[in-house]
Amino acid sequence: MFKITLPDPSLILLLGASGAGKSTFARRHFQATEIISSDHCRALICDDENNQAVNAEAFALLHHLTQLRLQWNKLTVIDATNLQTAAREPLLKIAQEADISCVALVLNISTVRCVERNRNRIHRVVPDEVIEQHQRELLEARARLPHEGYAALYELSETEIAETRVERIFPLKS
Ligand code: GDP
Ligand code: MG
Repeated sequence: MFKITLPDPSLILLLGASGAGKSTFARRHFQATEIISSDHCRALICDDENNQAVNAEAFALLHHLTQLRLQWNKLTVIDATNLQTAAREPLLKIAQEADISCVALVLNISTVRCVERNRNRIHRVVPDEVIEQHQRELLEARARLPHEGYAALYELSETEIAETRVERIFPLKS
């Protein structure tokens, strides 16, 4: 059993390549209303979760929803790749401004496995090169994460993911 302890409330950034299992992990461990997904934000705007042309609007929506939930002290999970520093920075800032802890949770899955899972998907087939690019970005992100100020930093391998249990702790507000 691999136990992950999360403060409630907190902002949880999932990190992982396409096909790493972020959305599956989020659905397994969190309520639907606790999850803000970049795919879902794209779909809300243009009915197509794959349409990268609406990224600016989708991420503006994702940030706005995050800010609103944190103002209400609601645990929030960001289901997006979160691989680029520029993607994490505004989320860290929103958490900091709301005085809410931010947690990074890396799903470290091999490229071969991510590619295999993507090929098996019905709705979304991401080119293999995109996954390879994600994996390079993940390597860079893993080096940076310890210096970005998270309250906790978790990294799960494929076998650990299957055995993970999420526990919430409710810190007393000072
Ligand atoms: P995301 O792109 O990171 O959000 O990945 P998804 O959660 O959408 O998962 C991609 C594919 O891998 C889906 O078809 C999932 O059913 C499958 N998948 C996700 N997590 C696991 C896992 O832990 N084990 C197995 N066997 N398949 C998984
Ligand atoms: Mg997903």
